[in-house]
Formats: sequence, C-alpha cells, structure tokens
Amino acid sequence: MSDITSLGDLKGKRVLVRSDLNVPLDGTTITDDGRIRASVPTIQQLSDAGARVVVTAHLGRPDGSPDPKYSLEPVAARLSELLGRPVAFATDTVGASATETVAGLEDGGIAVLENVRFNDGETSKDDAVRGSFADQLAQLADAFVSDGFGVVHRKQASVYDVALRLPSAMGGLVAAEVDVLRRLTEHPERPYVVVLGGSKVSDKLGVIDNLIDKADKLLIGGGMVFTFLKAQGHEVGKSLLEADQLETCTRYLTEAADRGVEILLPTDVVVDTAFPSGDREPEPVVVPASGIPADALGLDIGPESAAAFADALRDAKTVFWNGPMGVFEVDAFAEGTRAVAQALTEVDGLSVVGGGDSAAAVRKLGFDEAAFGHISTGGGASLEFLEGKELPGIAVLERD
Ligand code: ADP
Ligand code: MG
Repeated sequence: MSDITSLGDLKGKRVLVRSDLNVPLDGTTITDDGRIRASVPTIQQLSDAGARVVVTAHLGRPDGSPDPKYSLEPVAARLSELLGRPVAFATDTVGASATETVAGLEDGGIAVLENVRFNDGETSKDDAVRGSFADQLAQLADAFVSDGFGVVHRKQASVYDVALRLPSAMGGLVAAEVDVLRRLTEHPERPYVVVLGGSKVSDKLGVIDNLIDKADKLLIGGGMVFTFLKAQGHEVGKSLLEADQLETCTRYLTEAADRGVEILLPTDVVVDTAFPSGDREPEPVVVPASGIPADALGLDIGPESAAAFADALRDAKTVFWNGPMGVFEVDAFAEGTRAVAQALTEVDGLSVVGGGDSAAAVRKLGFDEAAFGHISTGGGASLEFLEGKELPGIAVLERD
C-alpha cells in the first residue's frame, strides 16, 4: 500500500493533505473537535518530515460558492492550538490568497485552505469541471496525501481527481481504517460475529447482503429486529416495522439457514406503551419476543437476550457491530446496547464498532474507547466498504 514513506524525502516539498475537518459548529464555536484531533498525527508527521503542509478540507454543505457560515477559519485556529504552533489560513482555496499563503510556507510550515466546497468544481458530476478544479489544487503542491476517511467514498476533486495529478499516498488515518475494514471482509479470523441494530433494516441491506455469507453468526437487535420477528410470524404491536422489507427479511433468514450462518434474534424485548419523550417517565416492561402486546412497542432487547448475545460474542475472534440494540439515548432502554458494548470490550480478537450512533452510544455509556479494537470514524465510507463497493478515493491510490 502506498503510505507516506512511498513519497520519498519530503523536506521542502509542498504536500497537499485532504483531511476530514467537518466538525459541528455553533456559530464559530466548535462543539466537538474529534475530527480535528484525529487529523493531527498525519499533519504533524508531514511537518516533522520537513514538508510544507497544505491542508484542504470541507465543512458542511455550502452550495459551491463562499458562505461565511461554513468558513474553516475557526477550524484552522483550533488546529493551531492542538499543534501548539502557528497555522496559516488562506481565505480562498485555489486563488490569490492560497497561492500567496503556500508560497510563504517554510519547511515544516502548515497552512489550511478555505473550505474546498466553496468551489463548485469540487463536487461536480462533470469530470472536466472537477478536473480543471483539481488542476488548480494540484498546482499548489508537489505531492498529495489522502487522510480524510469520511470522504473516500466520494468521487470529488480533492479526494479523487487530485490523486490522478500528483504522486499520492494514504495518510495514517485512512490506512488504519482500510486495514481494519479489510480484516472484516477478507479472511476474517473465525468465529466471526456480526451484530446489527439501529433503526432500519432498509439502511443496512447492503451490509447484510455482503456480510451474511462471511459471518458465522449474525445477531440482530434494535429497531430493525421487529421486521425480522414479524417475518417469523410474531406480532410486534406498535414497534418499528418496515412492511416492505418483510420479504427481504424472510429471504435473509432462509439464506442464513442454507449457508449454516446462525441468526440470533432476541427472545425477550423491553417494551413501553409509547416512544420515550420528555413528557412522561418511561415504563419499561419485559415481554417475550413472541408475545409483544398490541398496544406496546419494543424499545430494547430484553435481559435474557442481552445475556445470550454476550454469550454468542464470548469466543469470537472477529466482531463487527453496527447499530444500537435499543433506544440507548434513554437510560431505561440502554441496557441491551450496554451489554453488547461490554461484550465487545472483552473480545479476544478484533472488535470493531461502526456507525455514528453506535460510536456515540459507546461514549455515552461511559466505555473507554481504547477498550475496542477500532471505532470507525467514517459512517458512509465504512458502510460502503462493507457493502463491497469500491471506494473511489481508495481505488485511485491503489491503481498501478
Ligand atoms: P448507526 O448510526 O450506529 O449506524 P443507526 O443510525 O442505524 O445507527 O440507528 C441508531 C438509532 O436507532 C438510535 O437513535 C436508536 O435510538 C434507534 N433505535 C434503536 N433501537 C430502536 C427501537 N427498538 N425502536 C426505534 N428506534 C431504535
Ligand atoms: Mg445513525
């Protein structure tokens, strides 16, 4: 794989780094700087190697023209604090300010370019339009490092086209994600257990399709489980149900049986008579999965199921978990998610958590992130990888 060392001696070279700095902002205040922190090691590594580091990134979804609301200026300031050194900021991406700012960098110096999505060439579907913007970006650098895992599934100028124009390499963040995702899809160590939950089956069809013949066991909880239970002939009351996915769920159940993949569905469920809201105290009741009352809705897997899921994870060598087991945002319905998270921390092998809400659940429930083998940062990109799709931003770095 083309890591940064493949670029040779970087001293004095201008290196364009595509980072993922798409942080949540409240006005100009960064409310969670996780992505900036995650980007620091690669930027630091390039600077230590004497490169003149030019960081490009996007923030939010501006419509291809400058919008002060989405300026990266506060992000550059935070990056400077985290690095403990000055970071120059260009007020445009490829214009006069960018050219001047990059020209002013010393060896080891760092600059951040203004939001790359202020340029309509960045996300254009027209190869020529994207290409000519990529030409301008490429003029600012001698080499390119792709380090924004959250965007590698996008065929965009700063992710894909620029890599066609400059000697290119994978940054450490992208390399680590790709390495883990490959271990989940190519020759996983067995037993391999996949745990799926979250709100909808329809969001996860591609992943189920691709992993159903790779995993040894598939554990299903969360909102999606009720469509499976219904497919098995159970009544699910007012629980989340995707009637148009019943046939698909039936097919998965049959396919799994044919392939010797064990599917575990909950045998008990925590229900309430209404979805949790601020207006009333939750009244959680445990019922058998085969006996959900007509006026109730399932909001978590029950204690017996949580124990069975934990048990099924005990001897696993590879685990991929996506999607909370219940409405973990409310304490009364968080125990199933907690039990699965706890079991993952005890896995003697590779345990991977994917998905924005699953990662948030792990943090909210107070787990030490280091107790997991890997917590994937790029929701869309990880799911597309696990669906078996080729990610343009990775493929372009690995072409011969
Ligand atoms: P991720 O972001 O990890 O991929 P999803 O976005 O698929 O996960 O699903 C997360 C959401 O699923 C959470 O907000 C959680 O409250 C919801 N959820 C889990 N179980 C249920 C359930 N039984 N009924 C309704 N929603 C649920
Ligand atoms: Mg989500």
